[in-house]
Order: sequence, then structure tokens, then C-alpha cells
Amino acid sequence: MTKKLAAPQASSEAVRHSMQGNKRADTKPELVMRRRLREAGLGGYRLQWKVPGRPDIAWPGKKVALFVNGCFWHRCPYCHPSLPKSHVEYWSVKFARNQERDVANILKLQEAGWHVHVVWECQLKKRKIDDTLAVLFPVLSRELGKPLVEAAPVEGAQPPVPASAREALGALDEAGGTEADEDTSLERL
Ligand SMILES: [Zn+2]
Repeated sequence: MTKKLAAPQASSEAVRHSMQGNKRADTKPELVMRRRLREAGLGGYRLQWKVPGRPDIAWPGKKVALFVNGCFWHRCPYCHPSLPKSHVEYWSVKFARNQERDVANILKLQEAGWHVHVVWECQLKKRKIDDTLAVLFPVLSRELGKPLVEAAPVEGAQPPVPASAREALGALDEAGGTEADEDTSLERL
């Protein structure tokens, strides 16, 4: 039933990047998000967990999923990225499918009892990220049962979370196993 559409030549570097980037791991927004999560004491997540939609970041034990969506590819409702000028039909079909798939995956996860969060690339830009995380992190903290660690205020200058602060808060959750930040091969079936 589905109509076969030939992929057009990428009309620009940015478009080519996006065409390749449907489900790339370790995009810059993901890396930023993961760093901020660890700094806030919300580590212990797994990457690309094998549930509907392969959430970028997931805490399977708590059934909490966090998608970090690229604005172009997933059609951000906040910054409304412009459509490619050429091959309009190809792109409209492609984007519609992406959006349908995103919605379907979220519904599947929710039906299976997951808490699902979606954060957009543009919400993680320098000027927006603090506001975004000020809303998101308290919710995650509650869902994960992990206390938030006060973030180091100045970029770059300090280590993410001083060991003393983590000890004081009892935030080291060794029982949960090591953080799988750089390791996606440990997924359980
Ligand atoms: Zn956006």
C-alpha cells in the first residue's frame, strides 16, 4: 500500500545531514542533555533502549523515557523549521510518517506504563536550556525517585558534581549498576 518514493539528492549540506540523521545516536543535543542529567543526579539511564521508538534516554527500571528530538526531522512545534524548497512531495510524506510514528511510539509506551517526555533540540539551546530543564528535571526527579543535585552554576569552570555534594545527598546509587552512558551493548532482552 505504501507508495515508494525515491530519495532526492540533498539540496544542501544541512539537508543531507538531516537525511542521514534519522536515528543517529550521540547528537549534540543528546550529549548536552545527558551531561545535564548526570550533573543533576539523574544518571543511571540507558541509551536507545529496545522499546517502541528506541528512546534516546531511558530509565527502564522506572519506565521513564526521554526523547531528544531534532527539530527538522521530527517537525518541531516550537520553532517550526522551514520545509525544503525542492522535492516537496517527498519531504511532506516523509515528515508525516515520522510524526505518525513518533505519536504511535509514545502511545505504545504509555499503554505499557511508561512516562514519556519529549524535549526538542531548540529547547536545549543556550538561551533556553535552563528554563527547559527547570520544568523537566523536577518531574524526572519525582518519577525516578532520585533527589536533584544543585548544578554547578558556571559553565566549564567546575567538575559537574562535587563528590562531597553527592555523598552528602546520598545520591550515589551504586545499587542501580553503572551508568550505561557510553555503552549501549548491555541491553537486556
Ligand atoms: Zn524546535
